Amino acid sequence: VEVVRSVDEVRRRRRSSRSRDQRVGLVPTMGFLHEGHLSLVRRAHELADEVWVSIFVNPTQFGLHEDLERYPRDLDRDLALLEGERTDVVFAPPVEEMYPRPAGVRVSFPGLDDVLEGACRPGHFAGVGLVVAKLLHLAEPEVAVFGQKDAQQAVLIRRMVEDLDFPVRVEVAPTLREPDGLAMSSRNVYLSAEERSAAPALYRGLTRAAAAVADGERDPARVEALLAETVASEARLELEYARCVDRETLATPGEISGPVLIVVAARAGRTRLIDNIPVTPGDAGRR
Ligand code: AMP
Repeated sequence: VEVVRSVDEVRRRRRSSRSRDQRVGLVPTMGFLHEGHLSLVRRAHELADEVWVSIFVNPTQFGLHEDLERYPRDLDRDLALLEGERTDVVFAPPVEEMYPRPAGVRVSFPGLDDVLEGACRPGHFAGVGLVVAKLLHLAEPEVAVFGQKDAQQAVLIRRMVEDLDFPVRVEVAPTLREPDGLAMSSRNVYLSAEERSAAPALYRGLTRAAAAVADGERDPARVEALLAETVASEARLELEYARCVDRETLATPGEISGPVLIVVAARAGRTRLIDNIPVTPGDAGRR
């Protein structure tokens, strides 16, 4: 793996790929990689000639009292995992390289960034929008691969790329899960044994809610209640939201008549867990 640390180097490296007619697939991450990230790398290999992974714990997407300092980091381990996936370039810039001064531009998503995760984490999506815009401008990938795990992020990035005409294809890949259903996440290492055993209730609730939609339930409130009830059955989980929303507008429909996203967030001790399932009514319920 070629490790690139500076903005100048990444631009130079991009020119070299272009001169060789190599299409680049970028997988943006915050590192501490797991199988979910690696599945995005594999998807990128199917869509591009070279796979680039960025590893950057982006300070602008963390709130004041969030886990920026304690967020897990292990670049050597990440590089070893990526070596095994035939990754061409790892872009791992220091913070000063990405933010030599505070950005004087703010990325906002009216009506989309102040609901769900955005309501619980004010300013989060402004930071995500900013860093993803910068990464896409620096790496100029033909394809960028994101995970369905962060469903709202995927919706916003698609919107930014379409509305601002970024010349990139946005690909969203399915959520990888542990055998008991817990969505893989770098933050799962924070969980105590008791919290870890409670955590799969999120996915149990999602599958229960999705099954109801597949079976013909059309009332979003009833779908949300099934999900909330399952999460509430675990005393160690504190529900933040359980919602059934339109897959593009993220608003709750009056009645479920098209594709929806069932989304959940809960706290297990100090750790926030999020998960979701996209469902189409009358469909058997997809991951
Ligand atoms: P992160 O490092 O958490 O910022 O995640 C980097 C990318 O990996 C994002 O596009 C995430 O949606 C995606 N991702 C995180 N967890 C998973 C998972 N369990 N399955 C698939 N993709 C994931």
